[in-house]
Amino acid sequence: MKDSFGREINYMRISITDRCNLRCGYCMPENGIELAPAKEILTLEEIVRVCQAAAGLGIHRFKITGGEPLARTGCPELVGMIKKIFGVRQVTLTTNGVLLGRHLDRLLENSLDGVNISLDTLNEKVYRQITGFDELPAVRDSLERAVEKGLRVKINTVLQKGVNDGEWMSLAGLAKEMPVDVRFIEMMPIGLGKKSQGVSGKEVLLNLKREYPGIEPDDTFHGNGPATYYRIPGFAGGIGFISAVHRRFCESCNRIRLTAKGELKPCLCYETFVDVKRALRGPGDMEKKQEGLKDLIRQAVSRKPEMHCFETEDQITEGRQMVQIGG
Ligand code: SAM
Ligand code: SF4
Repeated sequence: MKDSFGREINYMRISITDRCNLRCGYCMPENGIELAPAKEILTLEEIVRVCQAAAGLGIHRFKITGGEPLARTGCPELVGMIKKIFGVRQVTLTTNGVLLGRHLDRLLENSLDGVNISLDTLNEKVYRQITGFDELPAVRDSLERAVEKGLRVKINTVLQKGVNDGEWMSLAGLAKEMPVDVRFIEMMPIGLGKKSQGVSGKEVLLNLKREYPGIEPDDTFHGNGPATYYRIPGFAGGIGFISAVHRRFCESCNRIRLTAKGELKPCLCYETFVDVKRALRGPGDMEKKQEGLKDLIRQAVSRKPEMHCFETEDQITEGRQMVQIGG
């Protein structure tokens, strides 16, 4: 399905909860957020119905996120339900990794295609400073087990000045030891992200070039997203950059987002959304409702703006935290 700027939209990110077991300072306030009442959160069956309608329109790759998706009961089973939909090619998960080890077998039984593990530091003290919890050993254990089991793993790292910006080399080093892609994600000015000072991908790449002069661009396909990849001789995995702020990639945007409350968001940057919950729960037989859902997805796609406005913060209309939207 094409949007009004001719971009092919074939990927949906689905937030399944606004709850989280960590408190990363740039995503979730220390005291938490006002959680949506349970009845406002889409049920797993409702999420599947949105995916069915989306798959019918050519959206065939899905990423489950949150909040922390593994904090919601039934997450592994949801993977299996979406995988069974006709036309679906890939279901992946983004997680902080704390509960991943515990759920790994169930996720694999449900044919998960890959996992992104968010990991900003390899230092236990800094991990506590960033996330508020002492869960680094659990995350590292999950990472090792996921790799051992042959799951495709990517590591998402957000660097912050004066917090973990000195760790670019040790974090990149994970891709030396293991067949995982380490991706440096620029801090985006959404919610508390506005108050956090990020590090540009360009700066990290310059550091890497100094340390590894043999680093070179890698144009092979690594996934659904806007990351640009590099390979370093002798490394088992790749190094990626998602530089939403300093290297705008809106011209190749391929996605829409579904929040846990059933809002279809055309773009992360703006508050605009199309409400699918009302259609899911409103009157009418199932067939009509599915057609209604397809119309709403088309509407959301047609409302995709040409580009974000991260560089002019006063134009950002999305006022919620990333944990509420789904990162
Ligand atoms: N809890 C899961 C996790 O941490 O992977 C899934 C949700 S989290 C919101 C998804 C990703 O968004 C994480 O990699 C996190 O680091 C990233 N993120 C959160 N706030 C961000 C911000 N303001 N700018 C850039 N990335 C952000
Ligand atoms: Fe939770 Fe992920 Fe946000 Fe951290 S980044 S607070 S783990 S949702």
